Amino acid sequence: MKAAFYTLGCKVNQYESQAMEELFRRRGYEIVPPAQEADLYIVNSCTVTSSGDKKTRQIVRRLRREHPLAVVALTGCLPQTDPHAAEELPEADLVLGTRERRAALGDEDHTRAFLKIQDGCTQFCAYCIIPYARGPLRSKKLSALREEVAGLAAAGYREVVLTGINLSLYGRELGLRLPDAVEAAASVPGIDRVRIGSLEPELLTDADIARLAAVPQLCGQFHLSLQSGCDATLARMNRHYTTARYREIAGALREKFPGCAITTDVITGFPGETPGEFAETCGFVREMGFAMVHIFPYSERRGTAAASMPDPVPMEERRRRASELAEITAGSARAFYEAQVGAVQMVLIEKKREPDWVRGYTPNYTPVRVRCADDRRGELLPVRITEAGPEGCTGVFAG
Ligand code: SF4
Repeated sequence: MKAAFYTLGCKVNQYESQAMEELFRRRGYEIVPPAQEADLYIVNSCTVTSSGDKKTRQIVRRLRREHPLAVVALTGCLPQTDPHAAEELPEADLVLGTRERRAALGDEDHTRAFLKIQDGCTQFCAYCIIPYARGPLRSKKLSALREEVAGLAAAGYREVVLTGINLSLYGRELGLRLPDAVEAAASVPGIDRVRIGSLEPELLTDADIARLAAVPQLCGQFHLSLQSGCDATLARMNRHYTTARYREIAGALREKFPGCAITTDVITGFPGETPGEFAETCGFVREMGFAMVHIFPYSERRGTAAASMPDPVPMEERRRRASELAEITAGSARAFYEAQVGAVQMVLIEKKREPDWVRGYTPNYTPVRVRCADDRRGELLPVRITEAGPEGCTGVFAG
């Protein structure tokens, strides 16, 4: 029997798809790419934006049309947030929410593994449905975390990415904080690198940053969610920080992790966002010099506070602002890569995909390729960066 997965959305969904793939493999299924013929198609949906919902529905309907005899299953956030999803999508044979799935571990490449250590969110940002979709805070206990990371190390993984729905809230209900999880993962023999997923800036204290900086395995790559660079917009979004505090946190991370990548998300055209407020966001984004900015035109989610806020910005203007911001940030990844030319970085080599090249990532998640015919998968090697392009760097083995 063959099964294929379509995964939409965030790292948590990627992790959960990997986990499901592993469960299916253990039951004797062969996992094939989604473009191939399969007996079962699983669509792991994302509902952060309504365009995500639309895409999910389109995929389910297309699979039904193209594979009339296959089983099509819909899982993830869409059925969890919208109890009518099953009625609205009769093309799906099975509809399961996030709570009905079981988690396990697994990854194709055996270099980097995602480990979900936290679920749920209690922040209630005005635009977000996730606190309703994912329920109360649940964190993985440190003993279980260590055990699972040890299992990954035994399976050959050298790098683990800790993820969560709101990772910055890790451990709150257990009296723990995120650095406890990072320290526990890094303490497992065989794990050379630990990365952390998206962070909410206000939940990261100076003491947390100091503890994180004392973990040598922690990679200098931080996705620090911004959403707006205007304090008035942030307040309407029910985000609990100011741009001044964000600047301090990003500065502290840059000081403790020299050369680190700071990436972010920004929403354009949130209700009530005036041209002046948007200009403030553009100015702040320019000032921060992000390595990468994911830009989303605001999209209404039924059931959220923002959906009924006054002064909506017309969709066309939300998109126009997104393009304007994209122009400001165009080339920021390349500038970040160019700043590394000449430096020697440790690169963890991943699965070989081209005969004459090996590829991997630096601690700050710069993709690097090196001309090399041998398979060096899983090796952590020093590479001198010689060239930068829009998609990453090229280098030579050093030392
Ligand atoms: Fe949603 Fe805000 Fe929680 Fe992130 S922090 S999951 S945006 S409510």
